[in-house]
Amino acid sequence: MTDPRRLIPRTDALLARPAVVAASARLGERRVRAEITAAQDAARRGAAAPEDVADTVERALEAATVTSLRPVLNATGVVVHTNLGRAPLSPAALAAMTASSGYVDVELDLDSGARSKRGAGARAALLAACPEAGEALVVNNGAAALVLATTALAAGREVVVSRGELIEIGAGFRLPDLIASTGARLREVGATNRTHARDYADALGPGTGCVLKVHPSNFRVEGFTSGVDIAELRALCGDVPLVVDIGSGLLAADPALPGEPDARSVLAAGADVVTASGDKLLGGPQAGVLLGRADVISGLARHPLARAVRADKLALAALEATVSGPDAPVVRYLHADADSLRTRADRLAARVGGTVVAHDGRVGGGGAPGVPLPGWAVRLPEAYARPLRLGDPAILPRVHDGACLVDLRCVPEESDGDVADAVLAVAACSS
Ligand SMILES: *Cc1c(COP(=O)(O)O)cnc(C)c1O
Repeated sequence: MTDPRRLIPRTDALLARPAVVAASARLGERRVRAEITAAQDAARRGAAAPEDVADTVERALEAATVTSLRPVLNATGVVVHTNLGRAPLSPAALAAMTASSGYVDVELDLDSGARSKRGAGARAALLAACPEAGEALVVNNGAAALVLATTALAAGREVVVSRGELIEIGAGFRLPDLIASTGARLREVGATNRTHARDYADALGPGTGCVLKVHPSNFRVEGFTSGVDIAELRALCGDVPLVVDIGSGLLAADPALPGEPDARSVLAAGADVVTASGDKLLGGPQAGVLLGRADVISGLARHPLARAVRADKLALAALEATVSGPDAPVVRYLHADADSLRTRADRLAARVGGTVVAHDGRVGGGGAPGVPLPGWAVRLPEAYARPLRLGDPAILPRVHDGACLVDLRCVPEESDGDVADAVLAVAACSS
């Protein structure tokens, strides 16, 4: 009798199958060979029949994806969800990224054939959206924007900042450490809950590199508090540059988010430089945005560190499209109408069961803490949460108060049916 293992198809025979050739073009040969080896090994161990190897390989390749990142439907009601990659991009931003994915004139003037300024389109879009700024610069992220500003303006000197604004921006990263890493010394003024104009005035001197005001975006101090506003600080600063880190990246004031600083108002009030993230309330790709006085921003752009934190062409393209194009998803989700959310929640509950409960969405991503976004959720058994996360599509509900809450605020409406199907599938398995 022949050894059944001799019936295991050979690698070159498997590689020549049309479906495998197609998968190889999509996924790369290394990945394809790994699946082939795994299926052959299983057959050699006797864990699978030799005649099933080809099918196993083809099925595995059909399901395989080029990235291990999995799309997730965000059913938490948290608009800027850091663990889900913050802002989802608009179709316009996606189109811009696709258009710029190959060779692209990011640093070339096609008319003269000479090198041009990098990211001119993103810069122009930002300046059009924020006319109070004389110049704009895009870097890798908000933290990089802050590091560049403090390094260029205050290395070897002092950054004057209120004790009430020394925040941790997430995952253990603290603003004071970030600034200290730039070679600037932190000069803390005031107390956690109150800082007065005289605290700043006492600290300002020949050793001051800049004054920094940070929007404590992810927490609120309530009660006996006071701070010094931008106009007042401007008057105190004299020639010393005033840098304001607004964090979330609102370019203009949004009535839905009172208390959330925006670049236009902050610059109008007298800031020299505003720093912000591109992927929070701005709704774009990961990026850091610096807006402000032309001479100051141009100086930052010439600093050697600017090269180490520069934005890539895809981010520049997506940012330009986000700023100049149609409203980003973040903006739409933030302003989602509570009545339409109710209608969608009712429709979902009618299909899958569960009760519709009032549920406040949140801005998230360290923005506007304490600002509720009134809406609705479908309340399901808590045990549904894990299978929903592990499903296809993956759905992240909110687990709270012994329940699995499905909030459709940040789910594209055309995916409501997918959410319903997924919940029904989970319900069928758990009954
Ligand atoms: C989010 C945030 C940062 C960091 O920005 P990244 O884009 O995450 O690097 C810095 N400062 C404030 C106030 C923030 O809210």
